Amino acid sequence: MSPRRDEIAEGLDRTRARIRAAAEAAGRSADDLTLIVVTKFHPVSDLVTLIELGVTDIGESRDQEAATKLAELREATSEQPTVHFVGQLQRNKAASVASYADVVHSVDRERLAAALEKGAVRAGRRLEVLLQVDLDERPDPHRGGLTPHEVSGLADRLHAYPSLMLRGVMAVAPLGADPDPAFARLREVAERVRRAHPEATIISAGMSDDLEAAISNGATHLRVGTAILGSRPSHR
Ligand SMILES: *Cc1c(COP(=O)(O)O)cnc(C)c1O
Repeated sequence: MSPRRDEIAEGLDRTRARIRAAAEAAGRSADDLTLIVVTKFHPVSDLVTLIELGVTDIGESRDQEAATKLAELREATSEQPTVHFVGQLQRNKAASVASYADVVHSVDRERLAAALEKGAVRAGRRLEVLLQVDLDERPDPHRGGLTPHEVSGLADRLHAYPSLMLRGVMAVAPLGADPDPAFARLREVAERVRRAHPEATIISAGMSDDLEAAISNGATHLRVGTAILGSRPSHR
């Protein structure tokens, strides 16, 4: 066992224990929760290690980095993870993302949906998509995300894009605020969307610092980086 492998294995164990404890406290089953390990800025060798340690879902947030690493991963191992694109996405990167992502978490405008549809058709693939919600009390148009009252409108319009399957909602807790009421708002938005679109069952919420609050408010998919892989290399 290399030191890096030990470090990742310990981070995974600690995180899985936190998830189990939070699920138990919320009266939920940890089996209903999907852990997505966010690997941005970390090398492909870490992805290989994660897969060896049983991780099935990985997250990336920068297109070029993700495209390169996933091509390397296909060379390195035959076992391929489910790939989640979790970062803000520009329209000119949508076709590339549509060629390798299984789930895109950050759809927040119709023009982006149209670009993903085009890319998915070209790649002969279907994509699962989540609508990103801005949970800030004072939404910031530069940070991305729909306001809670915009979500249902875009959810209804997605049927115009047959290669995109609406699967739910995603959010990042507002910076410096209590994540609990924010994730409670997300759950209300998710329930509203699900009433009109029964297949939209995913609530993607919770990161290294707030996964307990997310689990107690109904999150189904957790996006965890630092708690498993340590601080991101270029940020050290
Ligand atoms: C980087 C990132 C994460 C993981 O954050 P950590 O704090 O390292 O756990 C989760 N979600 C998104 C959208 C990210 O960009």
